[in-house]
Amino acid sequence: MLFQGFPWTCRAYQHRDWTDFQALKASLACDVCSVNVELLVGIHWYFQPSEFLIEKLRSYSVLSLVWVLTALRERARSSFMYVGPTCFGYSEDYDKPNAEADLLAIVDGESILCEVS
Ligand SMILES: [Zn+2]
Repeated sequence: MLFQGFPWTCRAYQHRDWTDFQALKASLACDVCSVNVELLVGIHWYFQPSEFLIEKLRSYSVLSLVWVLTALRERARSSFMYVGPTCFGYSEDYDKPNAEADLLAIVDGESILCEVS
């Protein structure tokens, strides 16, 4: 999900490159212009999310859920619990739920059903 690597900027065209940890060498080549840059001695490591993770965060509104959870948690004074996206049904046909909820939270004893988009 997360890749460790080194972000750097090509001096020739200011292209922002990323070199994965396992591909690091003493000399790095720009992805666009192939100009070589010498790797610094003391570099800081960075982490980059995979495209899969970014796409899933976008398509399933996960960041919106995290934002709502954070807001509800900050509002709580004595208790807080939640259940993430859940399907509800009255039959045993799990493929056809009767209803779904993006978030069910119980904040200070109050039930809060959320539709997040
Ligand atoms: Zn370049």
